[in-house]
Amino acid sequence: MTNPFNLTGKVALVTGANTGIGQGIAVALAGAGADIAAAGRSAPVETRTAVEALGRRFVSIQADFGSTEPVQRVVDETIAGLGGLDILVNNAGIIRRQDSIDFSEDDWDAVMNTNLKTVFFLTQAAARHMLANGAQGRGGKVINIASLLSFQGGIRVPSYTASKSGLAGLTKILANEWAARGINVNAIAPGYFDTNNTEALRSDETRNRSILERIPAGRWGQPSDIGGAAVFLASGASDYVHGVTLPVDGGWLAR
Ligand code: NAP
Repeated sequence: MTNPFNLTGKVALVTGANTGIGQGIAVALAGAGADIAAAGRSAPVETRTAVEALGRRFVSIQADFGSTEPVQRVVDETIAGLGGLDILVNNAGIIRRQDSIDFSEDDWDAVMNTNLKTVFFLTQAAARHMLANGAQGRGGKVINIASLLSFQGGIRVPSYTASKSGLAGLTKILANEWAARGINVNAIAPGYFDTNNTEALRSDETRNRSILERIPAGRWGQPSDIGGAAVFLASGASDYVHGVTLPVDGGWLAR
């Protein structure tokens, strides 16, 4: 029987793959056989080393997703560099913390632009290519990196909650429009992961303890914990899965 999780011959574009969750996903996809285009601000030096050690091709694309300016170029450079685009992982994202009563318009716009607006237009640019793939029976996979705050309200992160709740909705509408046209659109909602994004929480002893007490698995997630879900949603194993936001959270939402 052929392995439904095998990604050999597929090209995956992962945004923000230089560190954290994006790096964990890029390495897992490469481990399943995919070639990787990493798009972002910082040079993905470690990720390149890990992907190439797995025998997969790797291209790095410089892009600042604080605006939609680079989206078409990123898609074009992926296709030029690796010969196609089958899997898009919208991982790059930021968070700004402040009481809602004092929250600034700058912090609202920066988070919404990076986490939601650019994600939509990058996905649109990628999907135009994937729809042409679909006509050849090749299709495409889009994986959005959502959050527990796609389900819950959170505290002191109004633009982040709005962006990640919006991303869960975007995942559903795009699935509705493209499911019959060969593209699967789904999301992963990481729980509390040990990355730069959560450094402020982990260095606050009280917050750290109260978070850990609520996680049934009893530990923070590591970037390698996210790879299995990403390989599943990137592969033929999920061909009949559309529009879901899959929590990978050590059981947090079950509490
Ligand atoms: P991270 O270590 O801070 O990684 C964020 C990534 O996004 C980095 O590669 C960063 O690049 C990139 N990025 C941010 N702004 C960018 C911009 N304007 N242009 C291009 N790239 C940009 O945090 P992480 O936890 O791995 O976050 C990855 C995703 O997971 C985010 O969408 C985050 O919201 C989501 N998430 C994280 C957690 C968690 O517990 N850690 C939980 C739920 C969801 P630079 O390194 O160059 O800044």
